[in-house]
Order: sequence, then structure tokens, then C-alpha cells
Amino acid sequence: MRILTVVGNRPQFIKAAAVSGPLREQHEEILVHTGQHYDDALSSIFFSELGLARPERELGIGGGSNTEQTARMLGAIEPLLAETEPNAALVYGDTNSTLAGALAAAQAGVPVIHVEAGMRSFDRAMPEELNRVLSDHIGELLLCSSESAAEQLRAESVAGRIEVVGDVMVDVALRWQPTARANAQAPAAHGLQAGSYLLMTAHRAGNVDDPARLRALLELIRALPKPMLFPVHPRTRARLREAGLLGELEGLQGVRLTEPLGYVEFSALVCQARAVLTDSGGVQKEAYLAGVPCVTLRANTEWVETVQAGWNTLVDLDAGAALQALHAEPPAERPPLYGDGHAAERCVQAIGAL
Ligand code: UDP
Repeated sequence: MRILTVVGNRPQFIKAAAVSGPLREQHEEILVHTGQHYDDALSSIFFSELGLARPERELGIGGGSNTEQTARMLGAIEPLLAETEPNAALVYGDTNSTLAGALAAAQAGVPVIHVEAGMRSFDRAMPEELNRVLSDHIGELLLCSSESAAEQLRAESVAGRIEVVGDVMVDVALRWQPTARANAQAPAAHGLQAGSYLLMTAHRAGNVDDPARLRALLELIRALPKPMLFPVHPRTRARLREAGLLGELEGLQGVRLTEPLGYVEFSALVCQARAVLTDSGGVQKEAYLAGVPCVTLRANTEWVETVQAGWNTLVDLDAGAALQALHAEPPAERPPLYGDGHAAERCVQAIGAL
């Protein structure tokens, strides 16, 4: 089969890095990079570090509002589908690139495969939630990370075929875990010691686009124990600058700000952190796999199993709740969630049976 894969942002490069290799052993893949994330720190480093093939097509579509960006992607993907005549289109996760790839393919009569289907935060104010729900209802093959995601899709009576394959990001995380744990250089390079620092990421629109929420994030950071390492997403840096808060954050004692890091360095820093604070979906999962407590800076999460297992606490931007969560002992048990590191192989099997 010829598969047209559409990716565009950081977590999608990581997911595609798991699937693309095994997929190409059996099928022809045309990898399309929409350009949603285009700078080196969020894009090219993941291709080189994780061995992802160079995209066959680069659309160079970044910036703009969600609607406008999605519209430009739709306009660019439609002629590509006509030109390449794929047997199926493959999309990952919940971004504008996911929805644009899925919708353009479905309109062209090309079956859509959605990896990481069925995740829900039940928060329709999140652009990601709209992208997920719509892609799932467009999809013909819905590949789920967990049984609860599959149950959700059944409850929504989706039209596509549902299969639980496990989580492809887990494949990558488990593959890199031994290297990440042994990488003493990663914390040392930032003047940190294993087990004694907090690692922070924050970039969700709901946390950084509203200056009042951004101020609350800054106050939360001020209240937390140090040292803390915070690789700052470009979106967050831009919003901090616009709100006049960047200088204040840079001046906080014990807070080390860096550019976004590559996967190898970042995963080493996750594995060796005392705890992780994040609003990222992928990072919640990776902290769980690493056995590092996670404090999620959101009121809800798609990765509910990590919360139910007691390793992840939702605090939104409440500094008191974050401090309390950091003082709690992690549970003794950490049941395996989201698969065994072989999700990509199951994806390829399911695609073969399409
Ligand atoms: N990540 C990274 N460098 C960083 C921060 C995150 O490599 O400085 C990785 C992280 O390990 C995870 C992915 O990026 O695999 C998560 O991406 P992001 O937070 O952008 O997206 P989300 O998962 O929230 O959709």
C-alpha cells in the first residue's frame, strides 16, 4: 500500500519515529511535514536523533490562528492527495495537522488511519479536543493507546474500526530509557544532580495565551522548591515577552531556563528528576513510565490512568495544590499502562489488514 503520513509538530515526529520504520518495511510511505513546528529545536533535531526519514514533502505552513492554519493545510494537502494517490492517510494525535490530514483525505475518499484515537479531556475549549473528536469520527481505522480510549470510541458510536495497539510514544520512551537513566551528563550540564531537581514544561494555549493565567504560572513557579529546569517552548517565551513577564521569570533564583531540548537530553532529564510539572500530554506519560511523580498543570487530562494510578496529580495552576502533591509519597505500585513497547508493530499489522 502507499500511505500518506501527515505530521507537523514535536510529539508527532516522536510518534512517527516509532511507526515509520516498521511501516516502510511493508509499505510505501510518503511523509508530509506541514510545517506547524518549523524551528530546529522543535523539529529537525527529532528527525536526526530518532532516525525519522526526511519528509518527502514540506508544506511550510506555520503560524496564524488554528482555523486559518488548518484551512491553509487543507488547501495544500488536497492536491498532494490527488498527485500521490495514496491507499490510506495516516495521522497522529490531536493537532491542526492531524485534523487537516484526516479531513482532506476523507473528502478525497482516502481511508484515514488515526493513531492515538479515543483520547478525551472532555474540555471542548481545548483546540486539541476538537481535533481529536473530529479526526476520530472521520477515521476508518482507529488505533488506540488503551482500552479506555477504545471504550470511549464505542460510546461515541464512531464509524471506523477500533483496535487497541498500545501507545507508540511508549515504544520510543522504553527504547531510550536505559540510555536516559545512565546519562549523568544531562543533569550535570545544567548544574543539577539526579533526583534533586524539578523539571517544568508549559505551552498549552489555556495556560500561556491569557496573561492572567501566565501570571498564575509564574507565581506557581515562584512558590515551588528549587532548583528547577524549565525548557521554554517558543510559544510560551513569546507570550511571556508580550505580557512583560519574561524578565521576572529569568530573575527567579534557582530557575534555569533553556531552549526546548532534544528528545535524548529531555528524556534523560525526565528519568532523573525528583518530579515533573507539565501541561503536556506526552510528558505526563513519560514521567509515569520513568517512575517520576508528575504534577499536571491542567484541570483535566486525557491520560486518566496515570492519575488513577496515583502517579499524576491534576492541580491546574494552584500553587498550594502543587506543593502538596510534591510532598506526597509516590505509590508503591506502578502497573504497566499503554502497552509493552510494541505498539508500532501492531499499528502496521492493523494497517496491513485495512
Ligand atoms: N520534549 C522534548 N524536549 C523538550 C520538551 C518535550 O523532546 O524540551 C518531548 C517530550 O519528551 C515528549 C514530547 O516532546 O515526548 C511532548 O511534546 P509536547 O509537550 O510538545 O506535546 P504534547 O504531548 O503536549 O501534545
